[in-house]
This record gives sequence, structure tokens and C-alpha cells, in this order.
Amino acid sequence: VNLHDVDELARAGRLYPSLIIHGGSADARLDGAERLAAILVCEAEAATRPCGGCRHCRRVLVRESEAGDAFHPDVRTLARDLKTATSVDAARSFLRLAQQTPFEARGQVFVIAEANTLSGEAANALLKVLEEPPLGAPRNFMLLAPTREDLLPTLRSRSWSIYLGPTRRVEAEVVAELADRLAPILEGYRRTGSASWLFGFAETLERSGSWDDPRAEAPWAVASASVTELARRDPAGRGRGDLLALAEALLGAPRLRLRSIRPGRILEGLVAGALTGHGAACSALVRRL
Ligand SMILES: [Zn+2]
Repeated sequence: VNLHDVDELARAGRLYPSLIIHGGSADARLDGAERLAAILVCEAEAATRPCGGCRHCRRVLVRESEAGDAFHPDVRTLARDLKTATSVDAARSFLRLAQQTPFEARGQVFVIAEANTLSGEAANALLKVLEEPPLGAPRNFMLLAPTREDLLPTLRSRSWSIYLGPTRRVEAEVVAELADRLAPILEGYRRTGSASWLFGFAETLERSGSWDDPRAEAPWAVASASVTELARRDPAGRGRGDLLALAEALLGAPRLRLRSIRPGRILEGLVAGALTGHGAACSALVRRL
């Protein structure tokens, strides 16, 4: 579904109970969720929702605290825990709110800000609520994640997905230039099968960006786009699937960085895993970590 249709469905009260909002930046995902939440609780005539002026809209759309939390008793956000996976306890106490009747609005909206950080058990607690939704007023769940592939298949199959576009816009020139540098190294590896080329490949990726900020997504996005560009230049190549798997794994890598693993090591691991033909296993590994 696209954003426009989703607005219309939300106005008509026909939104699917569980939505995945992925792609774009973390801020864009949160903004999108808040806008939809405002439509769902707004008191104005359906066609003009969100009106931006009613007491519901104001409380959802105006960020009242420095921390940026929206405050509406029926619009709840489970924030990401930067240090650990979002635990089952945090998820359970959050989901218990869905058993209450709404305080003021027609229904309740639950936003899970970084659903990709839900621990397995926490995701299952959420799944249970989605399978047996509380009766009475409508409940809408919004699961925000960089990519929908970060979520359990069981959650994906029970949700509609809204894609906000590439996670980060990267400059085409930078990407092409890095792909130019990577191409002969990849060629060297394919010719010789020697691991030293793989290290060279990882090192070239590492030199291409600044990795000081563990939360920065940009260097990973550039690395991923360059690897995708390599695959695009060689559409019939036998290693194309491996390159695309590597590109996907690179996009998931910022999470590994948050666990204080050095970028150089992550790059070496991903490159070696994917280009030696273990691409699928490699992205599965990144998803599990
Ligand atoms: Zn309103």
C-alpha cells in the first residue's frame, strides 16, 4: 500500500490493524506514524483528518517534551532501547495498555519505534496480541523498522507494509566512484580465488566512509549502494546474487556497529561471507544478530 491510500483508509476507519512502516529515515518513519495516528484519533470530519487543530491532533502532532515524545493517552510509543534488544518485559507492559479501553479517543494507536530491536520473545508477545486483538475499540499497531526484512515473517504476514523509499539518499557519483574502485578487486578475486582480494575489497569499503559515529547509517548506505551498482553492471554474472546479498547485509550492519564491533571486522566478515558464496547464510546471520 502507498502512503496516500493509507491516509484514505485511515480516514475511513478501514486501516489494517497492523502496519509496518519501513524505509526512509528513523525520523521519517516516526513522522509517518504520528501523522497516521493523528488521522485515527482526530475529531474533525473524516475528509479533513488530520485537522491539526483539535485536541487530539495537537497532542499527537505537537511534541511536548524535549525528548520528542508525543503525548496522547491513546497514542503510545514504545521507544527503542539503544543498548539491548527491546526486552519482553518492556513489550509486555506496553502491550498490556491495549487491554484497556481508550481514554478519550475512538481507538488506540501503538507505535513500536524500532520494531527491528524486539527480542524474539517480545516479538512473539506482540504477535499474540495481533492474533487475538482486544475487542471493542479499534487498535492500530505500527511497527517501524529500517527494512521489513528485519521483522519476523509471522509479523510481516500479519501486517500491511508501507515503504518510505530508500533508507538514505546517497550521491550517485560517490557510489559510482566506489564501484569503479571495487570492480578490479572483485575481478582479481574471481580470477584467483585468493582471500587477500577479499580483504582488499573490505578495506576499500572501509576507506570510503567515516565510521566514527556508531549510529551513522550513511557509510553503510554508500557501501551497500556501491555493491548494488557492481551487481547492476554485471547482470548476467554468476556472482550477482552474492553481491546483492552483500548489499542487503551491509544495510543491516549498523546494528552490529551498535554492539561495538569494529567496522573493519564487520566489513571483512560480510564480504568474505557473501563473496565466497555464502550470501544467503550471511544475511540470515546479520538478521539474527
Ligand atoms: Zn484533528
